[in-house]
Amino acid sequence: MRASPSRAAASDYLTPQPALKLMPLWPPLPPAAAGAERERALTQLQTEIGACRACEQAGYLECARPLARRRGPVGPRLMVVGQAPGRLTIARGIMFGGPSGDALERWLQAAGFAPGTLRREVYLSALTRCDPGRNPKGHGDRKPTPAEVALCRPWLERELALARPRVILLVGGMAIEAFVGRVKLEEAVGSLVELAGVTLLPLPHPSGVSRWLNAPAHQALLQRGLARLAELRMAWEEEDAAGAPAAP
Ligand code: SF4
Repeated sequence: MRASPSRAAASDYLTPQPALKLMPLWPPLPPAAAGAERERALTQLQTEIGACRACEQAGYLECARPLARRRGPVGPRLMVVGQAPGRLTIARGIMFGGPSGDALERWLQAAGFAPGTLRREVYLSALTRCDPGRNPKGHGDRKPTPAEVALCRPWLERELALARPRVILLVGGMAIEAFVGRVKLEEAVGSLVELAGVTLLPLPHPSGVSRWLNAPAHQALLQRGLARLAELRMAWEEEDAAGAPAAP
C-alpha cells in the first residue's frame, strides 16, 4: 500500500502522460494563513467585490452588478474557474447557477464524485464577476474583453490566495489562457499543469452553447479530463482512508 501523499504530491498518483508544453503564467500563491483568518478575509473580499464598479467607470459595462456571494469552503480540494457569470447566474445569485452548473455537476458525478459535490464542496469562481451581456454578433453570452479580465484579475488573485484549492478546474478557453497562456483546447483539455503546489486541470466550458464539445474527438478529450479527475478523487479517498489531513 502506498504511503500517504503530501499536499504537493497529488500528481504522483496520476498515470504518465505526454510532456506538456504549457507554461503557467500565474504567479506562485503565497503561503496559506490560518483557516479562521482566511474565512474572515474571504468574507471581506466578497464585500469589496460586491462594491466594485471598475468596468462601469471604465465604460466597459453599462451597469456593473458583481456576483459577490461566496460559494465554496476555505481550503477546498476542488475549485472551478470559469469565464464570467451569465444572466441566470446573476439572477440566482450563485456561481454557475445556470445550465453550466448542471453540466459541471454531471461531469463530477461521471468522475465518481457523490451527487451534490459541486454545490457542497467545490469553490466556484470566474475570471470576471459581472454579466458581460449577450453576444451582439450571435447567440450566447459576450466574452469579457481582455481589459475587463485585467480589471477583475486582482479579485481572483486574492480569492485564490485565500481559498488555496488543491486542484483548479479551468473551464473554457478564456480561463485556460489566463492561467497557462494561449493554447489550443485540443492540447490543453485533459492535461495537468502543476503550479506552486496547485494542480490545474483544463476542461472545455460546460455551457450548452459550446459547439466544441459536439465533435466526437473532443468528447474523448473531455473523457480524458474526467478520467484525470477520477484519479485525483481516488487519491483523495486513499488519503482519507489513511487518515491524512484533507486540507491545508
Ligand atoms: S467585472 Fe470585475 S472588475 Fe469589472 S466591475 Fe465587475 S467585479 Fe469589478
